[in-house]
Amino acid sequence: MDGITAPAAQVSPPVVILLGPPGAGKGTQARLLEQRFGLVQLSTGDLLRAAVAAGTKAGLAAKAAMDAGGLVSDDIVLAILRDRLAAPDVAAGVILDGFPRTTGQAAALDAVLAKVGLAISAAISLDVDDAAMVERVAGRFTCGDCGEGYHDSFKPPQVAGVCEGCGGTTFKRRADDNAQTVAARLRAYHAQTAPLIGYYADKGVLSRVDAMGDIADIARALGAVMAPQTT
Ligand code: AMP
Repeated sequence: MDGITAPAAQVSPPVVILLGPPGAGKGTQARLLEQRFGLVQLSTGDLLRAAVAAGTKAGLAAKAAMDAGGLVSDDIVLAILRDRLAAPDVAAGVILDGFPRTTGQAAALDAVLAKVGLAISAAISLDVDDAAMVERVAGRFTCGDCGEGYHDSFKPPQVAGVCEGCGGTTFKRRADDNAQTVAARLRAYHAQTAPLIGYYADKGVLSRVDAMGDIADIARALGAVMAPQTT
């Protein structure tokens, strides 16, 4: 070469959507993908819970719907997500966990991405049986320090009471992870979110992954879908 190097090809940061009902493993898998591919997990559920805990106006407005297992209004969710997307750490690419959940949110996301010249790289549906979901959700808990997820039966910490991620010893369970609220969340998923599977199939970005197996097998299947998006 004569000292002139070709400019690196402009590769858009990946925007990956994880779809699936409560308990499908979106959060667990998003965290694994985050570590493996260097993307940032954006969970609207986490953002909303933080807003509720901080007592912000949006948090106060969201709380009743969250406690009942229904969906928070698109306006509130979109405002919270837009704020988060403005932070610099998302430039490497994002995994959207729990968003979009309605066709209105999906259309708004398309518009936000189009404005900054981005597009959805993949929408991955984690396919599970409803019957297994209540058990999965009812048994789960997270480390209070680092957020690592665990389950009473399927993924207990190797040393009881000690987080494998950070050594923390305080754990928390979500208030809405009870049988009654889970049933309402499943209904909301089927009525309002499941139609997005067709929405993303029509756009040619949908992949479906059987998410009934163990965490490592599902992670492998997701990695295979993700690899072309991140190389
Ligand atoms: P998650 O942590 O994703 O299970 O979300 C917990 C709760 O937050 C849901 O049951 C909803 O009440 C609310 N929520 C999270 N994400 C959204 C969203 N994209 N749209 C509407 N409500 C949401």
